[in-house]
Amino acid sequence: MRMRDALALLSVAALAACGGKPAGLVKMMGLTPNTSLQKDTREIRCFCPSCGSQIEMGVKACPKGKVCGVPLSWKDDYSCGFCNGTGVCQACFLMEKEGGKCFNCKGKGYITYQGKTPPCPDCKGKTEGKCTICKGSQKCDFCEGAQKISKDVIKERAKKPSEGEENVAPVEKKAEAPKPPAEEKKAEAPKEEKKAEEPKPADK
Ligand SMILES: [Zn+2]
Ligand SMILES: [Zn+2]
Ligand SMILES: [Zn+2]
Ligand SMILES: [Zn+2]
Repeated sequence: MRMRDALALLSVAALAACGGKPAGLVKMMGLTPNTSLQKDTREIRCFCPSCGSQIEMGVKACPKGKVCGVPLSWKDDYSCGFCNGTGVCQACFLMEKEGGKCFNCKGKGYITYQGKTPPCPDCKGKTEGKCTICKGSQKCDFCEGAQKISKDVIKERAKKPSEGEENVAPVEKKAEAPKPPAEEKKAEAPKEEKKAEEPKPADK
């Protein structure tokens, strides 16, 4: 008996010593709107890499203590998923808004329509001729051009687990594979392609 307890303790200690705390998952979802007329669907959610529960940024361990409860680690900042870590305003980028100008009126603040010049419906009363997302700065409005988002900002802006009805994300096996920032997919890249869960390999 004693022996077994001691062994169990040992293996726990060994795990901890390896620094093998799984990293909490931070998902940045949704798309940057291209104009002020589009809805901003962006949101951040954090998940337990082990059981897939939605959790709060920074928790030391998965709160699903009975079924999971793994200790978790978090980085100090995360590459901005809304600009793919480029720091560039995605609305400007995707719409090729030159110089951060409003795409709709090309920076004039009004449009020419049937001989009249009504105010631009996109930037009217907002940014007057400039991109309404970055307000002409051409920087990603979410990370403010920093290319990354700090833990604190994520904690503040991430959806709290209680806010979402679906608290369980499909568990992804690879805990530490943030999307390579290289791929600049156009607007509607599907987020999760794989839905089916992989059967666990029965090795050992
Ligand atoms: Zn968990
Ligand atoms: Zn912009
Ligand atoms: Zn405009
Ligand atoms: Zn960004």
